[in-house]
Amino acid sequence: MHYHELGLKGHNRTAFEKRLMYNVRTLLENAPVEKVTRISGRILVMYLPDADTSAVADTADLLAKVPGVARVSCGFVCERELDTMYAAADLALREAEPFTTWKVVARRSHTDFAIDSMEMNQLVGAYLCEHHPDKPVRMKRPDVEVHVEVVQGHAYIYAQSIPGVGGLPVGTAGKVVCLLSSGIDSPVAMWRMARRGATCIGVHFSGRPQTPSTSEYLVDDIAHVLERFGGVARVYVVPFGDYQRDIAGMVPPSLRIIIYRRLMMRIAQRIARKEGAKALVTGESLGQVASQTLDNLAATNAAVDMQIFRPLIGNDKLEIIADAQKLGTFEISSVQAPDCCTLFMPRSPETHAKIAEVEAAEEALPWQTWVDEIMEKIELHEYRCPSSYKGKPSVAAKDASQAHVGELSSLA
Ligand code: ATP
Ligand code: MG
Repeated sequence: MHYHELGLKGHNRTAFEKRLMYNVRTLLENAPVEKVTRISGRILVMYLPDADTSAVADTADLLAKVPGVARVSCGFVCERELDTMYAAADLALREAEPFTTWKVVARRSHTDFAIDSMEMNQLVGAYLCEHHPDKPVRMKRPDVEVHVEVVQGHAYIYAQSIPGVGGLPVGTAGKVVCLLSSGIDSPVAMWRMARRGATCIGVHFSGRPQTPSTSEYLVDDIAHVLERFGGVARVYVVPFGDYQRDIAGMVPPSLRIIIYRRLMMRIAQRIARKEGAKALVTGESLGQVASQTLDNLAATNAAVDMQIFRPLIGNDKLEIIADAQKLGTFEISSVQAPDCCTLFMPRSPETHAKIAEVEAAEEALPWQTWVDEIMEKIELHEYRCPSSYKGKPSVAAKDASQAHVGELSSLA
């Protein structure tokens, strides 16, 4: 696994690398992986010798989605011995089918290996030319690059790479509380924060008991998707329907949505304080719906002191949908659920709420008492997130030098 941004972190680099290794070891618990180690600016994930091909491919796909991973290369580790290296390079190239053009990119990290990069390029290149006579070599932008890297006593050989999500490892940027509906946007917003290294806590407002619990099941399904990559630590579920019904009966219809939102923010802020989180996150994007105009966003902000992040503010819906599809939450989010915000929806919501008017309308509500009451009713669902995981990962973290490399072993 390659990581870019971590390299930029100066003296924090070791801590970031350790965090990424720990996250990977925790997330790979059920994968056919023998160990995870660090080696010369990369992380080495060694598969079990009997791992089957599809499990290896699934694991590589999962690794590519772990925040902090820039690229995953799949190949082999072997002894620094030319014949073995040739065989590994040949195997790696065959696994890269279909392709037409190729070249060798060799590198040695230390002169204790007598053959330099230029010579390795020539030797491995000549061997592959002989065994793949119908495939032309191309130096400029070939379809496949066969990497041969001699690092710390072994040779690492790979020809296939998949791009990773990049970003920073979860657990390196503090905690945030994300308002998570079962819609398309908020899971993407949460994922963006996880990709920046934040530990994400969700809070979902359910229409229960005024609606069935469909949205809660959907949010749980969404959390299970995010959980695979460490994107969620826990989700608080708030039965909110009765409060919405009461708000609907007590404030002017045009202000209902703003007032629901402000109450949601206050509860989310309480949860954030309890959790030691330092920001709230929503899936809002400017102008998408009536509650997302600049005036209404300002009226929502005014209910709390804590900073609110809106990672999707400048995205349009099609971009958000594309991200939701990549993340794997789009289908779940497309299932219709009675949403607590569409419940008691006014016919014409205010699009330019004035804070003074909103505050005046809220005077009719015992919202402070409600917040205390709701905090007692809240339900907690835990997910496995490496940054809050307490156990010891079952995947070992042995030193690479202890690796058994008698035969060609698969690695990512
Ligand atoms: P989404 O697809 O995320 O539901 P949306 O386009 O439907 O967004 P709104 O319903 O206006 O937009 O919600 C804006 C944001 O408010 C959401 O992205 C989410 O962060 C928060 N939010 C809305 N409804 C809920 C809810 N029931 N529980 C938790 N957060 C919510
Ligand atoms: Mg919504």
